[in-house]
Amino acid sequence: MGDLSRRGFLQSAAAVAAAGALADAVAEAEQPQPAAASPAGPVVVSSANGMRATQKAAEVIAAGGDTLDAVVAGVNIVEEDPADMTVGYGGLPNEDGVVELDSSVMHGPTCRAGAVAALRSIKTPSRVAKLVLERTDHVLIVGEGALRFARAHGFEEVNLLTDEARKVWLEWKERHSEDDDWIPPEVPEADRESRRVVPRGFTYGTITCLGLNAKREVSGVTTTSGLSFKIPGRVGDSPIIGAGLFVDNEVGAAGSTGRGEAVLKICGAHSVVEAMRGGMAPVDACLHALKRIVATTTEKRLRLKDGRPNFDVKFYALSRDGRFGGAAIWSGGKYAVFAEGRNRLEECAFLYEKPKSESK
Ligand code: ASP
Repeated sequence: MGDLSRRGFLQSAAAVAAAGALADAVAEAEQPQPAAASPAGPVVVSSANGMRATQKAAEVIAAGGDTLDAVVAGVNIVEEDPADMTVGYGGLPNEDGVVELDSSVMHGPTCRAGAVAALRSIKTPSRVAKLVLERTDHVLIVGEGALRFARAHGFEEVNLLTDEARKVWLEWKERHSEDDDWIPPEVPEADRESRRVVPRGFTYGTITCLGLNAKREVSGVTTTSGLSFKIPGRVGDSPIIGAGLFVDNEVGAAGSTGRGEAVLKICGAHSVVEAMRGGMAPVDACLHALKRIVATTTEKRLRLKDGRPNFDVKFYALSRDGRFGGAAIWSGGKYAVFAEGRNRLEECAFLYEKPKSESK
């Protein structure tokens, strides 16, 4: 199943001045620490659509901002961008043509969490999730309750369905079955594939962003419009603490993108963080959790002829000592990272080489 095309990176890496952070790192290095490089400045990891998020979050951290404020400010850029059809405003809708958004946040230093799911009409669910953390005694608020909570905090309500997303949904609606009353426009047989705007099958896409400062404080956020054309009310892994996001300040953070149902079944991000607690490097911890997904995918409809999964999942991880990694079931994936003052895309590790003829 194909991801929608991600926005390329938009900003070149600007060196982030981190003099204060560097001083903190030096002080920290005098304490007994695990054998690993001390982060001398911000380290921020995100999915490949998050180059602007890693840059922004690194700037906020370098200026002395809190790590959760930083990663949320980073993903807000993508949530508000109608061109990313997998997150926030302009995200692909559910089967009824209504955009429903999911997000979770975790703040490492205070061990606190907040989340919203199936939230309609609000462009920035990550900011609502952060308010659940800060201004309620709850962790997760869903649906109508989440919208009313956002309203109480003065969020503007907008129609999240852009014209472009509506056209994609309409094409799906008209083409996904020949046994209903929706009829697509006449297109000559030969032009059908080239005119197709909806990739075959359902589409996934999300942004996750994990940030670390020189005081070894770590926070994370995951935000998404979820599975396209989902059953209304469907909630994936992104807003579920321990699935689409997990942060433990003593260890590090992990987030996920891809088929949420698979991540939910293995408590994905939690599995990654626990593997790091057990001593695995971030990239190995991601691969470890992906192997659990392969092992727990028993449904024939979710497997290729050779038994391997017919979908993709990616995990991203950041340890409190500044190491990071990303891994996917299938080859070809990338993730965004800001580290050592440089913003860039890195290759994901993977379990299986993608066959050249297939797009996953
Ligand atoms: N994990 C998200 C979900 O299942 C979608 C994605 O990351 O592509 O809702």
